[in-house]
Amino acid sequence: MARKSGKKAAEKAERKTATRTAPEAGTPEPLSQERWKCPVSHCDGWVSHVGSDEIAFWGCGECGSVWLDKDNLVREAREIVARFPYRAAFHEDVGGRLRPSRMIGFPGNSEKVEGEPVDTYPDFERG
Ligand SMILES: [Zn+2]
Repeated sequence: MARKSGKKAAEKAERKTATRTAPEAGTPEPLSQERWKCPVSHCDGWVSHVGSDEIAFWGCGECGSVWLDKDNLVREAREIVARFPYRAAFHEDVGGRLRPSRMIGFPGNSEKVEGEPVDTYPDFERG
């Protein structure tokens, strides 16, 4: 789906985070290796970390949504699972901490996601 331009959102995030530093230390695995299923309704894309010494954010290459704070991405992931329980397959809850599922594919779930209502959040930047 081409609801929004991902490039435009990334540029916007870059402007807003120009003074940010690299992601905080102490995360269990390198952020750059995590791929989250996008928690935006109707989006079947993937969210990955875009980071350097100057900028850092989480972005979906499909719908262009951007999260400057991983906690907000995880919060939205929990919320979308509450709305659409089949999305629970996209994640693992390990000791109360949500992380991306290690599964490779999710048979049948793309069709379900595409049947969800189109998200109406007014901005690329979601938190
Ligand atoms: Zn998306």
